[in-house]
Amino acid sequence: MELIQSFSVDHTKIIPGIFVSRVDTLGDNTVTTYDIRVTRPNAEPAVDVAAMHSLEHIIATFLRNDPDWKDQIIYWGPMGCLTGFYLILKGNKAPKEIHDLLLRAFRSVEGVDVVPGTNEENCGNYLMHNLPMAKWYARKFADYLAANADNDDIYEYPKTARLVTDDGRQFHDS
Ligand SMILES: [Zn+2]
Repeated sequence: MELIQSFSVDHTKIIPGIFVSRVDTLGDNTVTTYDIRVTRPNAEPAVDVAAMHSLEHIIATFLRNDPDWKDQIIYWGPMGCLTGFYLILKGNKAPKEIHDLLLRAFRSVEGVDVVPGTNEENCGNYLMHNLPMAKWYARKFADYLAANADNDDIYEYPKTARLVTDDGRQFHDS
């Protein structure tokens, strides 16, 4: 293994925030993938898996029903490392421009009485939910977003060289 100067994200320096993961062009359209990082990777406990699942359901429902944003939402889903979510939007907005949307999304969790879609017909693991813990994580992250709204560090990833395998393939991860 050796490192080449293709810059990637240094996961040891990531703090919670809203980051552009990649920008893709599909025909005439631009699509942006954001990392919505909720916890510090490898430095604090990752999100409880059942709470993560509940946050996936609740926030996807919020985003897809928001009158100002629903037409721009392509995807919302959890990272396999359980430290945050992927959000894919039409267009190419700066992370700061979606701060308010995400603050409102995570604030909305507090008022939820029942996680939407938690039955056998709508969910692949409908018993694996934890609404009280989802509220705890959502409150913590929303408070953090509110307190750091003007902190540029929550909108731009720290960079490092990307790992290349022995046969020359680049390692990609979030
Ligand atoms: Zn589900």
